[in-house]
Amino acid sequence: MPVNAKLTGIGAAPGVSVGKAVLVRTFDLDSVEALRKTISKEDSEREIKRYKDAVKVALDELESLEKDVKGRLGEDKAAIFTAQRLMLEDPTLEYTIETKISENLFTAERACLEACEEQAKMLESMDDPYFAARAVDMRDIGKRLVRCLLGIQDRGSLKSIPEGSVVVAYDLAPSDTACLEIDKVVGIVLDRGGRTSHTAILARSLGIPAVVGTQNATQLVSQGDILTLDGDKGEVGINPDEAVLSAFTARVQKFIDEKKRLSLLKDLPAMTKDGKRVELAANIGNVSDVPMVLNAGADGVGLFRTEFLFLDRTSVPTEEEQFEAYKEVLSKLSPRPIVVRTLDIGGDKEIPYLGLPKEENPFLGLRAIRLCLKERELFRTQLRALLRAASYGNLKIMFPMISNLNELREAKKEVLKVKEELESQGTKVPDFEVGIMVEIPSAAIDADILARECDFFSIGTNDLVQYTIAVDRGNPEVAYLSDPFHPAVLRLIARTIEEGHKHGIWVGMCGEMAGMPMAAPLLVGMGIDELSMAPGMVLKIKDLLRKLDYETCKGIWDKVREMSTREEIKGYLQSVLEELGFAEAS
Ligand code: PEP
Ligand code: MG
Repeated sequence: MPVNAKLTGIGAAPGVSVGKAVLVRTFDLDSVEALRKTISKEDSEREIKRYKDAVKVALDELESLEKDVKGRLGEDKAAIFTAQRLMLEDPTLEYTIETKISENLFTAERACLEACEEQAKMLESMDDPYFAARAVDMRDIGKRLVRCLLGIQDRGSLKSIPEGSVVVAYDLAPSDTACLEIDKVVGIVLDRGGRTSHTAILARSLGIPAVVGTQNATQLVSQGDILTLDGDKGEVGINPDEAVLSAFTARVQKFIDEKKRLSLLKDLPAMTKDGKRVELAANIGNVSDVPMVLNAGADGVGLFRTEFLFLDRTSVPTEEEQFEAYKEVLSKLSPRPIVVRTLDIGGDKEIPYLGLPKEENPFLGLRAIRLCLKERELFRTQLRALLRAASYGNLKIMFPMISNLNELREAKKEVLKVKEELESQGTKVPDFEVGIMVEIPSAAIDADILARECDFFSIGTNDLVQYTIAVDRGNPEVAYLSDPFHPAVLRLIARTIEEGHKHGIWVGMCGEMAGMPMAAPLLVGMGIDELSMAPGMVLKIKDLLRKLDYETCKGIWDKVREMSTREEIKGYLQSVLEELGFAEAS
């Protein structure tokens, strides 16, 4: 491979690293003759016995893996093996394998592999990222059974890799990843996989940079190659020359030092020097984001975008599926507050299977709460799932795109109806807060009216900017106009906070502005109670918050409110950050 060669893929876990490539050759199925053979009828009983013996060995292996991983990485990481054990014991799988042996006259190896492949394909066809991930487990089980049938030991190779390794593989099964001695791995590169694959999720939660979906990393990379990894951009450099390597190494060192320094803040309270507490929460879109919330040391979830449970599939998730997802997030993060936003479909988030008519101006159309109040069954199903899950943690329900009081009243009425219905069926529903997103100018202007009838506000600056400045948030041609530091947007934010407080409710922010260092002194000065952002930003903002002084921040806002242009405002805020010695000022 020439020096400075490059590979690109999907940035699946952020960060940069340099290390030596360790090509993981997972067990090579192509070399197994038995996978192409048939048997005679008389041999079928013997093959079924071989299969049953292999199941016992596989179950033992899974059990010991479960114990090992539980001890090293915790219960949630070990759950993969519990799930695989249950899948292996499934009578349907057993029946399919035995039929393939006794009727198709397949060898036990072939019957196991083909049966698992069929089940995996079936799971994949469900077009749901969760089940697609289960398909990986099913294939993992198939391979394990073949290996056990051949009497090959569980792979120890992954456990004895050298310090500073970048693991390069075609794909890593969940059990492979869990076998890795994580403290020796500085990066992961895969031919396959996407952002929601198991390995990507694990890498993110462990803070190991990962690039997946490269297509051909295993062909282009050789054992021992030096690799540079950029998990944000999804880039892998192969055998860099000295100049490139030393520049990259400096970046890595900076990244490591910063990460170490920030990680020390994880358990410290999010408050200014003079004791003003600001809750720092994370935005999530899926159950798989929970580990990131925990790793970020976030105080809770300020925005759970539930529409992500509806995307990338072919039908509406059932009440039961939604209930399981909400329950998992609430219980795993309990007692932290979890603000669950009801469906925000429409605008740029299209869901083809709902068959909604095309609109001329989708961002001004049947979106979010408007759609839910029209499609009541869709709304009710979600509310039922949410209220059933409420007793598992600290739930707060939030309605998106509220533009007037009638919508808020109507949405609350629906919540009350669902609550009464559940209670009449014997389900206890604990008390929970109900709030709204303030992301339409009319809601910010009427903040005093709305505050009287809800428990909290969360300011959605992504939409508030788009609707206040009349600038499509997805159109690059007008992106230069889109800026939360526009004085009109700042006035609406300040008004929302002031009116919220006057009426005794808390006010947070969950738009992108909440994770901008430059905005922090200003929002603290305005009196914001909570900031919710991408999990990866929480520690950085906590670091900044702990350097701020509430009284000084109030003065900063007093100054900014007199300024006329965003350039003036941003120039000033930049100087505030520089004075604080805060490195990244944007
Ligand atoms: C917002 O509009 O600021 C917001 C957080 O919601 P979304 O980005 O999902 O529209
Ligand atoms: Mg929005």
